[in-house]
Amino acid sequence: MGTIAALPGEVLIKGGTLYDPTTRKSRRMDIAVKNGLLVEPAGIRSGGAEVIDARGCIVTHGFIDIHGHFREPGREDKETLATGSRAALAGGFSRVCVMPNTDPPIDGPEGVSFILERSEGLPVAIYPIGAVTRGQGGEDLAELLEMRAAGAVAFSDDGVPIQDGQVLRRALYYTRDLGVPIINHAEDEHLRAGGIMNESALSTRLGLPGNPALAEAAMVYRDLLLAEDAGGRLHVPHVSTALAVDLVRRFKERGTAITAEATPHHLGLTEEAVRDFNTHAKVAPPLRSEEDRQAVVDGLVDGTLDCIATDHAPHTVEEKEQDMYRAPFGMIGLESAFGMAHTILRKAGLSGGQTGLSTEQVLDLLTTGPARVMGLELTPLEPGQPAELVVLAPDEEWTFTRDDIYSRSRNTPMLGLTFTGRVRATISRGSWFTSR
Ligand SMILES: [Zn+2]
Ligand SMILES: [Zn+2]
Repeated sequence: MGTIAALPGEVLIKGGTLYDPTTRKSRRMDIAVKNGLLVEPAGIRSGGAEVIDARGCIVTHGFIDIHGHFREPGREDKETLATGSRAALAGGFSRVCVMPNTDPPIDGPEGVSFILERSEGLPVAIYPIGAVTRGQGGEDLAELLEMRAAGAVAFSDDGVPIQDGQVLRRALYYTRDLGVPIINHAEDEHLRAGGIMNESALSTRLGLPGNPALAEAAMVYRDLLLAEDAGGRLHVPHVSTALAVDLVRRFKERGTAITAEATPHHLGLTEEAVRDFNTHAKVAPPLRSEEDRQAVVDGLVDGTLDCIATDHAPHTVEEKEQDMYRAPFGMIGLESAFGMAHTILRKAGLSGGQTGLSTEQVLDLLTTGPARVMGLELTPLEPGQPAELVVLAPDEEWTFTRDDIYSRSRNTPMLGLTFTGRVRATISRGSWFTSR
């Protein structure tokens, strides 16, 4: 059971190893924080500071999630910017880019300003993503330039795939000079055909409508061609299939300006998670086959995929207690993200048998990787800079329980799973989380 509180005036992180993801260098050292700023350890009173025992721990830059759904405005019963920020902090995140599929959607500069104003003073920095089309209706382009000027870091109709290729083509063309990505939830609605789980022998056996890997791959292929043609920046979210990983790899080899992400749940879970009709495992795109899962792992290990993103998607208990057909798609993910991703990536390795990633390489996928996709600068880990830190116990084994959840919602199939690697503390914007 952890706590989230205002950061004490003086904090000493003692005995850990500082890993700077921008230089990829590690150094054993104590780290001191005074009034929210990094200072030399000699600059704080001995005995007066709160001490974090970081022996055996890695201290690094706070994580960046480029794909969160915080549901404000409109569905504050699921999550708010404030409760989502607490979930983020508990997961080691200091920044979250929030998707615009709220009610109403964020499709103009006023909406972007609303999110920024509501986020002032929260423990993590919130970066709004604006809608690509008006009302996320998939037809008329939203006020992209105005939203960028107001502070939008990317554009997406996430939740709804952009079915009309010409609309996405124009969006990519208009945003070409802005340097910000267009993120399209890639699923062809006709191929998806109402599928609620992966199309496979298992979906046939369960009698549930299947969503084929083709539904994702066909749209990813279209999107990659459009990005190449229009010259804009495309980011492919939540890649779930071997086919889509292969397409991203091939287009990167051709030099197309594209990036892609994977979620911890597509790394660590397969369609087996819905075998007992568990609605918490109902996500879009769906959990796939073991071969697909391994391909997504390989994509992160070999650099085809650029970063880990949570697709944190809270829903109420009542909504998820409906049957498999009626329950909404999505699961929360911020609090379990590091545990799941680290557990899988450090031990899994490539399907060819190579070794897995180091803890530091996993940290890159949560810091420099997402920062590069969104064009964000990391805060330098130097005296005088704001403390934006996470303290990690890479070898700690722990079981994910309800006590670890800070989100307003609890929809996750990961309760009871044991992970290797735990967030011990997060320091961000004058707040801190400690897992003690
Ligand atoms: Zn999506
Ligand atoms: Zn999403």
